[in-house]
Parts: sequence; C-alpha cells; structure tokens
Amino acid sequence: MQTISVKCKVIVPIELQVEIDRTLQGFADACNQILEVAKREKCWNTTKLHHKVYKPVRESTGLKANHVCQAIRRVIGNAKAVKQIHPSGSTLCQTPSETLRERRKAPRRQVSHKFRPTSISLDVRTFQYIEESQTVGVTLMCGRVKFKMSIGGYQIALLRGQKPTSATFCKSRGKVCDYYINICVDIPTDPTGKTPRVIGVDLGRRDIATTSTGKSWSGGKIQNTRDRYSKVRANIQSKRTRSSRRLMRRLSGREQRFQKWLNHNISKQIVFDAKSNNAAIAFEDLTNIRESLNQKPRSKTERRRTNNWAFYQLRIFTQYKANIAGIPVVLVAPAYTSQTCSRCHHVHPVKGKSYRSGKSFKCGHCGFEHDADINAALNIAALGLSFVSQPESPGISCQLVSHCVAGVPRKLCHGDTPCCQDLPVVASGEGQLNLFPTSFFELG
Ligand SMILES: [Zn+2]
Repeated sequence: MQTISVKCKVIVPIELQVEIDRTLQGFADACNQILEVAKREKCWNTTKLHHKVYKPVRESTGLKANHVCQAIRRVIGNAKAVKQIHPSGSTLCQTPSETLRERRKAPRRQVSHKFRPTSISLDVRTFQYIEESQTVGVTLMCGRVKFKMSIGGYQIALLRGQKPTSATFCKSRGKVCDYYINICVDIPTDPTGKTPRVIGVDLGRRDIATTSTGKSWSGGKIQNTRDRYSKVRANIQSKRTRSSRRLMRRLSGREQRFQKWLNHNISKQIVFDAKSNNAAIAFEDLTNIRESLNQKPRSKTERRRTNNWAFYQLRIFTQYKANIAGIPVVLVAPAYTSQTCSRCHHVHPVKGKSYRSGKSFKCGHCGFEHDADINAALNIAALGLSFVSQPESPGISCQLVSHCVAGVPRKLCHGDTPCCQDLPVVASGEGQLNLFPTSFFELG
C-alpha cells in the first residue's frame, strides 16, 4: 500500500469563510503554543507533550478536542521532518569555527518557524468523505459543516470506494481565497519483482536528471526562473513594506509550484521508463551534500543555486510513484560516480585530476568516451545493481556489470582483460569480483 494525498477543491459559501478562518487561526495559535512548550521543556514525545499542553491549549483557543490532538501531532511531525532533512542541525546557525564533529555531537533542531493560519489537519473524528454526493464533512470550531467538492475524473477515480481517515484542509494564499482539502488515500501497489536491470539516475544542476538509458532533463529553464525571481526578490526585499512582503510570498509560491510540476513530470517519466524496461531505479544518496558544499568557499550566487537544489523532492516523488508501480528504488553512495570510467572502472591516478571535463568524459585508461552525466548514471546503475541482485555483498561483480542496462553495448569482462588487472580484486561470492577499490565504499 502506498499513501498519497488527493488534492480536491472545496466550494465554500461566503458566510462560512469567516468560520473557516477562525478555525485555521485557532489551529495555528494552538500549534505555536505547543511548539513553545515543547521547546521550553525539551519534550518531543507525543504522549508526554499531550499531558503538558492539552488542557491549557483547549481553554485558550476554544478548539475541539481532536483539533488539539492533531495540532500536537503537527508540531512533533514538523520537528521530526526538519531533523530528518537536516540531521546535523540548521545550516543557518553554523559558525565557521564549528567543526563537523562538534556539530554532530550536539545536534540542533531547526524548529524556529511560526505556524501560519493556512491549514488544519483532520482525522477520522473531524472529517468524512461522502462518495455519493462528492462532499466532505469537516468539523470546525462551530461544529460539523458539509462542503461540496469541485473535482475531476482523476480525483474521483482515486477516491472511488475509499474510506479515508485523514485529510488536511488548506487555504490558498493568493489574492482570491481558494480552499482545498488534501485527502489521504491508500492505493494498492504492484508487487516488487526481482529484476536483473537497474536504471541509474545522475542528479545535477545543469541537467536536473540524467538516466543511464541516455535520457536527460535540462535544468536551464528552472535555473533561469530561479535567477530571475532571486533578482526580483533582492529588489523587493530592500523596500521592506507590507505590500512588498505580500508580493514576495506570491513569487515564492510560483517558483515552488513550477519546481513541483517539473519534478512530478521527471519522476513520472523515470518510473515509466523503469516499468517498461522492467528495471529498478538507483539514485545517489545526496542527503548531506548541501552541508558539505556549503563548507567550501563559493560565491553567493553559487551558494544560492546549490541550496535550491530540489533533489530530495525529485527522489521522494520518484519513490512513491515507483512504489505504486512495484519498482524497487535503491540509494548508492555518490562518491566517485562522476569520475570513474563506467567501462573499465578506473579513476584518474593523479589526485585532484579527473577524466571528466565539463560535459564530456574521456577515460585515459581504456579510451572510453561518453557524455559525463550518462557515464555517472551508468556507474550509479552498476552500483545499484549490486544492491538489487545481492544485497548481502556490496560491490560490483564483473559478470553483472556487463549485463547492465543502458543500451551501451559492452564487452564481457572476465577479470583477465587488462582493465581489471591493476585494480585491487576482491573475491565476493562465486565467480564474482569486486571491481571498485575498497576505498570507494568507505568514502561514501
Ligand atoms: Zn576506462
């Protein structure tokens, strides 16, 4: 089963808008109060926090019991999500003198933001979906209210026969107030089959994603959009008026929506490719790339550009779509994937030098020439393959590498060809050899 949320537009009569806004405000106030307590008492356990905050929050906000319970969940969930994405604390509060080790010792939670009255979480007691009339029942501070939904065939198909038990009611931030409900539904997934093929995905900035099948999605357009908005933002920010702040918020939404749309598109195509090739998908694990990159001296523009990378979103989108289609997704260590020759697995012998130069890759050992990103994607695919076919032994086996997808015909490599002789060869299982130097995996 894979949980996805179905976004449905809700038709709200004008007289009910005030009631909704009051409930949204109450929910945001509750979240902020709870967050205060959680930070002060350093309590991040749902049950313990419930005992501390339930009564005072209900009294001061006038919310329903289940609204308060959901507010507690929202605060805890938010803190956890932040911690998951930024495991070693916020990048904003780093001081240059701090070493990585010191920061690891004292992880910080970056939960400094305020909750705004834009959405409320609902559960089975505060929400109901009625399929016959395509309406939703939502409990507000004034009691249960029914809303008609304005949805199309896509949503109706996903909601058919469902008895959803949770949802989020949202208010859009645009000029005209629109209300939406995101209904969580479980949809059945195809069984994940074993597959001898892997599609590797190399993530980058010039090209957002390149697959080992040779497909790539240019990042030029999104980069231009970002650069443009960033200029406009810098311009507005210097004005510091209320209307300029409003404009900022609207712009940020537009940029984010474009990004999201793009990532949905790319992920859909990657999953479609994998499905039609009966292949698994391998990604680089770039969890901490931002922090390690920010430690290097770079220009302000460069810093902004890398911090806008939306790899995580692309991976999450691909992961849930792949899950529904029954396609395994594996993460591999990103070290050396762009510098290693995907044919003979050599890295440039001189430290600091690489066979890669810009868009092209030319191996100095075997003479293999290819697009640099596709070469990296091929390496990722090969690394992913070792996970998919034999999770117990890390490394790449000679025989398997040669079968690797990618449509690039390659000679079978048996360990007696020159390309394998001068590398440390480690036997791993029957008739299989590790081609990558052991340091390859330690560095990851
Ligand atoms: Zn080579």
